[in-house]
Amino acid sequence: MTTELGNRKNYFLEVEMGKNQILIPVIEVLGDKPGNTLVLVAGLHGDEYEATQTLFKLNLELDPKNISGRIIMITVGNPLAQQEQSRITPKLYDGKNLAREFPGDSEGSITQRIANEIWKLITDNCSKNDLVIDLHSGGKDYSYVHTAGVRDMLLNSEQTLKSIEAARAMLIPQLCLMEPVSGTLSATAINHGIPSIGCEVEGKGSVNWKDVEIYLAGIKNVMKLTGHDRNGSPLKTEGDFYRTSTILSKNSGFATFNVDRFIPVNRGDLICEISDSFGENIENVLSPCSGEIWAIRTNPSVGVNEILALIKIPDRGIG
Ligand SMILES: [Zn+2]
Repeated sequence: MTTELGNRKNYFLEVEMGKNQILIPVIEVLGDKPGNTLVLVAGLHGDEYEATQTLFKLNLELDPKNISGRIIMITVGNPLAQQEQSRITPKLYDGKNLAREFPGDSEGSITQRIANEIWKLITDNCSKNDLVIDLHSGGKDYSYVHTAGVRDMLLNSEQTLKSIEAARAMLIPQLCLMEPVSGTLSATAINHGIPSIGCEVEGKGSVNWKDVEIYLAGIKNVMKLTGHDRNGSPLKTEGDFYRTSTILSKNSGFATFNVDRFIPVNRGDLICEISDSFGENIENVLSPCSGEIWAIRTNPSVGVNEILALIKIPDRGIG
């Protein structure tokens, strides 16, 4: 798919499997001067809407005649999940989490094929001077603290050092050293030498327009770092990147929380109670460490191994 200099184009990535044809929408803006590539990915989870709205707004604001390089916006990464307002691909297809399936497989299940097609677009356009931003939110089931994060891997590599600068340029106060989870887009990109960061905003099952503005301001500032915006130098968030600890549910049932975002906790503090279908307590979930709550589950109905909370660990990761 070629886009002319100083122009924009809307198109679809096509994924076929049997009688199913999945169309993944892409907006591509090519500035009037050569430069780096910035890939912005929204909607790898189908119940997160802030990033998609951010890209719609950004597209309206971008003037190809005023930028250098290429900006590729994937507005709905997993259309199958988005149609069902679901975080993951519906079970009817394969029930997989697209955000854990990179680099994908062209001969695999439908979600693996979607991952493969998105990854191919990225590797066709990106190398060590480019940047991939994977934009998320708490979705329907969670309330997250806003974070800009880099993967806790290859910390002295050129691609991670560039990612650290990009995370700071998102202008989000909380900086996160994310676990190097296999199959995530950012970990896969870092493994292939491509700078990449992941971001979160609150979520809670709706679009908070203030969060859309936060993402928009951050991306526009990052464009000064990547050279897409030729005017001015980027601002940055100072401070340390922190690791987090994830608390998973051992039981299915109903969760009632005793904490909220940004609340400090000590090891052993009550995070939430899980009750059964008779309202009887079946588990008190205690904090495994001291820290600060960075995400809680807002959907009270919880299944085994689902995330209940994320806790920021106070020892600084990298600064
Ligand atoms: Zn997500």
